[in-house]
Amino acid sequence: MKIAVINAGSSSLKFKLFDMQTKEVLKSFNIEHIGENGAKFNNHHEALESIDVDFSSLDAIGHRVVHGGEEFKESVLINGEVIDTIDKLSTLAPLHNPANLEGIIVAKKKAPNIPHIAVFDTAFHSTMPKEAYLYALDYKMYEQHKIRRYGFHGTSHAYVSKEAAKILDRNINELNLITLHLGNGASACAVKKGKSVDTSMGFTPLEGLVMGSRSGDIDPAIVLYMQRELGLSVDEVDKALNKESGLLGICGENDVRDILNSKDEKAKLALDMMIRRIQKYIGSYMALLGRVDAIVFSGGIGENSPYIREKVLESQMFNGIKSLVIKTNEELEIANECLRVLKK
Ligand code: ADP
Repeated sequence: MKIAVINAGSSSLKFKLFDMQTKEVLKSFNIEHIGENGAKFNNHHEALESIDVDFSSLDAIGHRVVHGGEEFKESVLINGEVIDTIDKLSTLAPLHNPANLEGIIVAKKKAPNIPHIAVFDTAFHSTMPKEAYLYALDYKMYEQHKIRRYGFHGTSHAYVSKEAAKILDRNINELNLITLHLGNGASACAVKKGKSVDTSMGFTPLEGLVMGSRSGDIDPAIVLYMQRELGLSVDEVDKALNKESGLLGICGENDVRDILNSKDEKAKLALDMMIRRIQKYIGSYMALLGRVDAIVFSGGIGENSPYIREKVLESQMFNGIKSLVIKTNEELEIANECLRVLKK
């Protein structure tokens, strides 16, 4: 069986073709700069057309969709209604859902006779209890405006949790894990019996850990101060928090390899801040979970930096807890989800 996975961003299209018997990647394409000035491809349709794959040989296509809101608690077969709902959810993820949808539409045109399946970054976290996903705001903000914690990176947290169970040779239903997806974007997740019970990203992927260029947790009143006292516009605050903060904001770099090689004091400070935040999240998830069977490191930083892992684990509180390094594979998880949906 052959399943393709498409991850369409606003100016990119990632395509991976899997042989599901062997889980081998048969083909992989990473097209960037779509629609940009002087680019090779003007739109996602042209980009997909350029891919050298016989679409008539595919059994299904899985699509990464960032925001599933409260509507999608698991992966679904895409039909007209699903497309409309993903479109409506664009208000919650204006940078991502429209691009994801564009990928779905062009792929459905290219391969109209096979199942297309949507796999959501938020779905894994739909098992969080209400006390975890609600913000302590006026309840109407939730009821009327759907302001709540959704969580992201769900496909990665789900994948590494299952891999951890395999490595530990235990049934996932008896494991308590803390999974850390540490890439440019970063999040932590408390996973109880294979289900997300809390996660660090919230209403948007801005909350939580100190990231490459995102602030993670801050006092929300800073946003008001930036607007009232510093005269920043809404867009300027958005840019400040998402693009000019985090490691980049502290030391001027966001690539952890460069930061680790730097002698600059601020580079060390940026890492110390990132590490401290990760430790705080692990500690709080230990309190929630009671017993923790393993802490799982994944993502570019988690997988590749022994220094960061050691520093994070230096806290005495984590003594005796197993730590695992697991290479995440969101595309394979999406392909596996397609199989699961098709079997139903
Ligand atoms: P994205 O969120 O963009 O998918 P990745 O998961 O690829 O990000 O992670 C990117 C981060 O991983 C960068 O900060 C990069 O510096 C870091 N990284 C990659 N390799 C190493 C390494 N050998 N040591 C430390 N950090 C690394």
